[in-house]
Formats: sequence, C-alpha cells, structure tokens
Amino acid sequence: MDTYARYPLTLVRGKGLWVWDNEGRRYLDCVAGIAVCTLGHSDPVLRRNLSHQLGTLQHVSNLYRIPEQEALAKAICERSCADKVFFCNSGAEANEAAIKLARKHGHVVRGIERPLILTAEASFHGRTLAAVSATGQPKYHQGFEPMVEGFRYFPYNDTAAFEALLAECEADGPRVAAVLLEPLQGEGGVNPGDPAFFQRVRQLCDQHSILLILDEVQVGVGRSGRWWGHERLGIEPDAFTLAKGLGGGIPIGALAVKASADLLRAGEHASTFGGNPFACRAGLTVIQEIERRELLTHVEAMATRLREQLEALVERHPTLLERQRGWGLLQGLVLREEAPSAPDLVKAAMAEGLLLVPAGPRVVRFVPPLVIRPRHIRKAIKRLERALLTLA
Ligand SMILES: *Cc1c(COP(=O)(O)O)cnc(C)c1O
Repeated sequence: MDTYARYPLTLVRGKGLWVWDNEGRRYLDCVAGIAVCTLGHSDPVLRRNLSHQLGTLQHVSNLYRIPEQEALAKAICERSCADKVFFCNSGAEANEAAIKLARKHGHVVRGIERPLILTAEASFHGRTLAAVSATGQPKYHQGFEPMVEGFRYFPYNDTAAFEALLAECEADGPRVAAVLLEPLQGEGGVNPGDPAFFQRVRQLCDQHSILLILDEVQVGVGRSGRWWGHERLGIEPDAFTLAKGLGGGIPIGALAVKASADLLRAGEHASTFGGNPFACRAGLTVIQEIERRELLTHVEAMATRLREQLEALVERHPTLLERQRGWGLLQGLVLREEAPSAPDLVKAAMAEGLLLVPAGPRVVRFVPPLVIRPRHIRKAIKRLERALLTLA
C-alpha cells in the first residue's frame, strides 16, 4: 500500500557504515534503519551468531521455556533497574504492553475505574491505535478517530503544566494510572529531556503511586552513550520500553518492569513471535558486542566529535543553521526559518552520498550505527556542508 512517501532510492547491500544502491552508488548511512542497525550493516559477529541460531532453533512457542529469551531478559535486567521483561516485536507493540500494564496498575493499585495516562505533546509512541493515541501529535490522529480514550497531553519538559494537569485530573480522587514519556523526543525534533523536569515527575508519581513509564525505543540500548536514556536524567522509571536498536536489525521489542510494576499475570498478555530464539539471539549479541567492543565509551567519544563538528558547521553558516542538540549518537541539526527545510536538505545530502533523516520540518537527524569512526564523521559533515551550499 502507499503508506510511505519513499525516496527514489533502492538499497541492495550494506557493510559497516556504508550501503549501496541498485546502480552501485555508495552512501554513508547516518540513518541506520532509523536507529536500528546498532552494529552497522552485515556485522560479522551478528551474522555468525544468527546463522548458528538458524541452524539450532529458530522459533518455538511461548508455551515452552526459551533459554535465549531468559538470557536476554537477564542481560537487560543486570544492566538496568528492571527485574522482569516481556518480549514482543516492535516499539508500538512494546508501548501497547506498557499501556495495558498502566491500565491494570490503575485498576488494581489505585482503584480507578477509567484510568488516565498522561503523555507529552510532540511525543511519538508508534502507529497502533493505542500507541498513536498516546502520541501527542494531532497529525497522526487525523482520519483515524475515535482515538483510544484515556490519554491527556501536556507540553514536554514543562513542570508547571505537568503539575497543573495532574492536579486537574486528580481533583476528585485518583484518576491517573501512569505517565508515559520519552527520555529524549526523537521523532518530535530531537528534544532531550530536562533532568529537573523528570526528577519532579518522578517525585509526584511516587507521591501518588502513579507509574512512570519511559519509552526508550529510540534512545535506549547504548545510543545515548549510556545503556538507557534515563541514566542521563538521574531517575529510575517503574517500567521502560525498548525496540529499534535492541535487535541490530532483527525485529524485537521489550517491556522491562521493576518488581513493583510486575502486574501482568499468565494469560493477560502474549505474542506469537515475541521472544523467539532467533530475535533474542540478535538482542543478546547486540548487548554482548556493545560490552565487548566498549561501545558506550566509543559513543561518548564519537558524540563529542560529531557535536563539535556540527557546532563548527553552525558557526560557518549562521544564517541557515540555528544549533545542534541531542545525546550521544542521536543528534539533531536545527535549521533556521530562512534555510531550506529538513526534508529538502536530506534529499540534497542523498545526492552527495549521505543518508540522514528529518525529525520534523526544521531538524535533520543523525542516528548512525554505534560503530561509526572519526573518518565517517568527517565525511558526513563534508557531504552535509556540500548539500547545504548546493541548496543555498
Ligand atoms: C520508532 C518509535 C516507536 C515505534 O516503534 P515501531 O517499531 O515503529 O513500532 C515508538 N516510540 C519511539 C520513541 C520511537 O522512536
């Protein structure tokens, strides 16, 4: 179906940071399937481990115990505040599980008949009906009303607005089950969370026994330079969701919960494909390789270079570029009103052999594989500058 406005580009092969089109042209990939290909394309270790898994066991039902799934859950819990994990196949599906968890928490812990979930404006939580209802962007709702009920929105990073909405919702007794937030808004324009705001939300959630659930689908699994984006905010969530980068290109999603939010019982949630041996082997490999190759330290070092070179680019083109912002290898370049739009700049960069992705009309986003090297960053900036000059 015509659900995507596709670029006229057909990619047929990839290796490391590079992808090739069907005419043999080479592109530097700073999209990585939108923050998915953590280890780059065609990584030898991921290939070897997945080939081995295909030759051992690919899929069995969750009717049975799955050692790879248990090992991946353990790996996530050992590196986070979580105690239990549910596996599914995508970000939207992970958020669906989180929304069901929130509703159950509202019913059983807070005794609410029709629980509310508070989410942020400019957020993005996925395209299934509940996840898109959680998404605080009207353009994604249009044409699909009625939305799933029970969501209220407030401006991101705005403590006063959050406090006012919470007070309004709780005026006649308990009404709010959970707050669902991205630690950094990716699709919404690469807006990093403000630690003071998140710490206040955490405090209020604790006071009212409201769950704080974080959508780590884009920023989680090392992309921020920490395992999880919330480590940059100085808080622990009650639950968080993962997908994108977790499988390094193999579809997998997860809902991780603390013991205190471990509320779903046998039969209350399920997925046929979720947590199959193949996808979990991919997730395990990604986590093991992030550790073995010391990629968290590497992301920090590469992020510093990328940030400095983007800042220098802004200084060279102050009439077109406003600023750089982001965490780790999730960086945005903010364009001025007078500058070409982000989608136009992305197209011009493609002609220069560089793949980037817009995050809204005014922000160009870098989400490269975590294995990016300094020479790739230099090349990316050069190509981006050429694209900018062509348009200007
Ligand atoms: C991409 C994304 C999703 C949706 O993930 P899908 O795998 O496309 O369903 C949800 N939340 C955030 C923060 C995302 O970036």
